[in-house]
Amino acid sequence: MNASQSSALAVSLHDVSPFTREACDVMLRDLKSAGVGVTSLLVIPNHHRRGAVGADANFQSWLRDKQADGHEVVLHGFYHWRDARGGGGLTRRLVTEHYTRGEGEFYDLDYAEARRRLREGRRMLEDAGCELRGFIAPAWLLGAEAECAARDEKFDYTTRLGGVLDLRTGIRTASQSLVYSVSSRWRRIVSLGWNFLWSRRLRSCPLVRLGLHPPDWQHEKIRAQALCLAGGAAADRRVIRYRDWVEGT
Ligand SMILES: [Zn+2]
Repeated sequence: MNASQSSALAVSLHDVSPFTREACDVMLRDLKSAGVGVTSLLVIPNHHRRGAVGADANFQSWLRDKQADGHEVVLHGFYHWRDARGGGGLTRRLVTEHYTRGEGEFYDLDYAEARRRLREGRRMLEDAGCELRGFIAPAWLLGAEAECAARDEKFDYTTRLGGVLDLRTGIRTASQSLVYSVSSRWRRIVSLGWNFLWSRRLRSCPLVRLGLHPPDWQHEKIRAQALCLAGGAAADRRVIRYRDWVEGT
């Protein structure tokens, strides 16, 4: 085995829910054509309080099918919505309102509430037949108390923008995730350049990560580049789920 064969590519599909299922199906089909047959599916238990997985038998069946095909289900927030709170400094307001557009749900949750949502989310997805190992916070924004809660709820790992953290051992793998911001034209232009450059920098990294969101596929240049980067990496790396990375398989 040469060095490139021992390295890995992990593609995650964010914001999977009953609202995005059809879009996710198209993305998974395209990724498979590009050589990415397995992904980590980041599932929201109750998307914006209006998409409870527990109340949607068809979606639950779809999730089980994806898992049977080799995809991994990962808990991704609970509501994917951060309730507006007063106070907070400028940095907090910028992060929670501008950067994430109000979706940084686990950025500043206290320990008890984080644990409650993690437990309820796990229950809802496990009742649907999913086998959970990981928790990934919306927009990768995981506060210190919420990280403790995830550890105490026995999640094996989490990821942030800059790496993968094994919650059992504390071992962190540094690897910047490729990700697109598509909400405006200038953001899309910057994203295309940024991800091109990062994909080159990551060539020597043991783990390459690509995080995709359903709106990415509404923009043909973004879709084309994402598939090109994924396909290029998949050509000489093992394609894995995050759980495989922390399990060392
Ligand atoms: Zn998300």
